Amino acid sequence: MKSIALVSGFDSRVMFEILRREEPGIEAAYFKLGMPNQEQEMASLPAGTHVFDAPWDHPYQGGVPDLTGRDLLMCARVVIALAPDRIYLGQLPEEVGNFRDNNHVTTSLYSAVLSQIAGKPVTVSYPLVERGLTKFALAKEGARLGLDLPSFNSCFAGGCGQCYKCAIRRAIDITLGAQCSYEELEALLRMGGAIERGLLEHFGKPNTAELLQEKFREKHDRN
Ligand SMILES: [Zn+2]
Repeated sequence: MKSIALVSGFDSRVMFEILRREEPGIEAAYFKLGMPNQEQEMASLPAGTHVFDAPWDHPYQGGVPDLTGRDLLMCARVVIALAPDRIYLGQLPEEVGNFRDNNHVTTSLYSAVLSQIAGKPVTVSYPLVERGLTKFALAKEGARLGLDLPSFNSCFAGGCGQCYKCAIRRAIDITLGAQCSYEELEALLRMGGAIERGLLEHFGKPNTAELLQEKFREKHDRN
């Protein structure tokens, strides 16, 4: 059974490290998509990663990573070049449905099409979705395994410190023990979405107001 995981940034890199502890023969594949963070991603690839050029011309012109159709092209390239029986994609449970072609129906269709191309059964799966590993849960598991999490890239710009992906990484660092001020916590919670959910879950509070009240009191007790 030959398994290939498509790796790039934080999510798929942590996924790969989890999977290879269960399946030592697993191999990694990386696609050079021409994103600004390519060099940084390539610096943290597992030894022996199969590196491919993007399977189309002019990737991401204008810098907008429209992912529709991308995974099928990459999987087909991997099937033709490496003949795996299984392909793992690092989709997060909270990202399912973000694009037209990232959902369970499409995954089973991919498996059928790729099996036709390969002339043998090929399964495409989303291990993080199957295991319910959200970004925060994944980071916690990565920390538990002692992985070098800062070496895994999240930001399309390679760590700008300004974008949502950088903010979510900062929120994750806080849940893993980094110190933060009341003001920083408030700013992060205001960003909402996965950041707010992850922080509320970590601090065990049902809503933002309650968490901020508690932190505000702590801040005043200290002063
Ligand atoms: Zn950024």
